[in-house]
Amino acid sequence: MTQVSPHGLHHVTAIATDPQSNVEFYTRVLGLRLVKQTVNFDAPETYHLYYGDEQGSPSSLLTFFPWPGLQPGRQGAGMTTATAFSVPGSSLGWWHERFKGLRIDVDPPRSRDQDEVLTFRDPDGIVIDLVASDGDHRSGWDGVADIPTEHAVRGLHAITLSERQLDPSATMLTDLLGMSVSSEEGDRARFGMADGGSGALIDVLGGVKDRGLQAGGTVHHVAFRAPDLQTMRAWQQELIARGVSVTQILDRQYFKSIYFREPGGVLFEIATDAPGFDVDEPLLELGRHLKLPPWLEPDREQIAAALPPLQLDVDVP
Ligand code: ZN
Repeated sequence: MTQVSPHGLHHVTAIATDPQSNVEFYTRVLGLRLVKQTVNFDAPETYHLYYGDEQGSPSSLLTFFPWPGLQPGRQGAGMTTATAFSVPGSSLGWWHERFKGLRIDVDPPRSRDQDEVLTFRDPDGIVIDLVASDGDHRSGWDGVADIPTEHAVRGLHAITLSERQLDPSATMLTDLLGMSVSSEEGDRARFGMADGGSGALIDVLGGVKDRGLQAGGTVHHVAFRAPDLQTMRAWQQELIARGVSVTQILDRQYFKSIYFREPGGVLFEIATDAPGFDVDEPLLELGRHLKLPPWLEPDREQIAAALPPLQLDVDVP
């Protein structure tokens, strides 16, 4: 039997409102690299902005659909309610001071389970945690002048799913997706993929009563890593054999993807590591220009005209 066993988080995709404040926040404030400026392939009147490390490596990626004027959503059950990035162990104080200085909505650093965490909210109210993680040897992106390399964000650390019931989601993560339980306490459990380090962790919080509402400022879906297309195809067949309703393999230009829902309602995606973000522009140029997949290229003029202008290289006030 094929075992479906993703080896880490691939990306998290969330819904923003204003694309300009989104790009300013994630590049200038948090210091991620804008690695792709494209459109939502399923709704090309909207941007799809990808942020990550220098190459846009899997496990470093947070992406957004910005819908100007969209009403705010509501956090609740059936959603990814927090996204954590890892930073070096000694960096939380530095980030706390930086956020305070920039008047970002931030809580003081605190201990949560085994982690030291700094929680803040982006301009749309999306909850992001920075977690101190000394075991994370990824290099991050050092392209932002006022963020010293030693404090740079390394990549995704963990996500948190909020659920009405812990057990059905836990069963899918362990029995179907091959994850291991690394800790469990009351209504909260942590699951690990592969070595269970930074970028390969899921926290599930059960007992959340009210369902969330997906709109501005909420996470749309989370994606897990498949090493290659052949493996993903085998996993897709295994999901089907186990009665999970899964999509066909979709061409996302920078990776191939399948989608399915976990029992609590969170949309899961499995995405291949290849081909990556330098498939349609050189590494040095990533994110500088609007890129479209070949099937949307004939409509470029119309698509570009409908998108709000995006100004890169703005300074944080
Ligand atoms: Zn995705």
